[in-house]
Amino acid sequence: MRLGKKAVCALCDKPQAKSYKPFCSRRCKLIDLGNWIDGGYKLPSEEAPSEAEILDLSDYLSQKKQQF
Ligand SMILES: [Zn+2]
Repeated sequence: MRLGKKAVCALCDKPQAKSYKPFCSRRCKLIDLGNWIDGGYKLPSEEAPSEAEILDLSDYLSQKKQQF
């Protein structure tokens, strides 16, 4: 039997969401993806980002840029 601690988000320590593992939300996933694309940062998962995720991210980053 292996009952571990509840898995938490790799970014903010909230409980992970099934569909966004290892994160709690799409937001955290995109932030992490952004860090990864900015360079010098490795994804905690072995999965490379999909094309759809990269498109999502560029949306997210362009919104972020407008805030500056
Ligand atoms: Zn999170």
